Amino acid sequence: MMRIIMLGAPGSGKGTQTQLLSKYFYIPFISAGEILRQESKKNEKTKKYIKETINQGKLVKNSFIINLIKKKIKKKNCFDKFILDGFPRTIKQAESLKKHIKMHFVIHLKISTDNILDRITGRLIHEPSGRTYHKKFNPPKKKNIDDLTGELLSKRKDDKKKIIITRLKEYKKLTKPLIKWFKMEDLKKNIKYIEINANKSIHKINKKIILCIH
Ligand code: AMP
Repeated sequence: MMRIIMLGAPGSGKGTQTQLLSKYFYIPFISAGEILRQESKKNEKTKKYIKETINQGKLVKNSFIINLIKKKIKKKNCFDKFILDGFPRTIKQAESLKKHIKMHFVIHLKISTDNILDRITGRLIHEPSGRTYHKKFNPPKKKNIDDLTGELLSKRKDDKKKIIITRLKEYKKLTKPLIKWFKMEDLKKNIKYIEINANKSIHKINKKIILCIH
């Protein structure tokens, strides 16, 4: 059994490392941001709420994301092994998850603010699948084209400097306290907390995570 949580500031590489780990260990992943982006396309009722919240750089309500994640865990039938990317992001979310399921590892990707800005401003996304690239650090084989489908890549609307600043503030206020919470959970042997220096290359970070998990 291997249930992993990816934790870190926006741009720390959670999504990239999640995709690599998912391929390496053959385990499914659930990305909170991706679920919200897909949900905003199909659900007319909540579309406005999701889009506005994301584009302001704020977090959506705990109850809202908790319900979506719970549904996804059940639906994906990935009970024994899965990676959670971007969830939990608050102590409330973590407590709710803890009641529901036992997680084994939390990988905290630690990164400096300068690197965050470089990573986010160069990020490209294949919208239909959520696959991400970076102009410099993880470029697609053909410029602006998704490797697998040949479709056009785009930039995320919330990857603008002004919005990134709010996202970082939200991270400091709501997600940073969660790091302490996980360290306590580690002391109680409820989960293994692993801290990774995420200022390195994609490949080096990936190797380090795999080493720590094995
Ligand atoms: P991400 O793709 O992980 O960068 O997430 C994009 C945006 O989705 C965030 O800036 C939030 O607005 C929202 N979001 C993602 N995960 C969560 C979460 N666990 N709780 C609340 N909002 C979230």
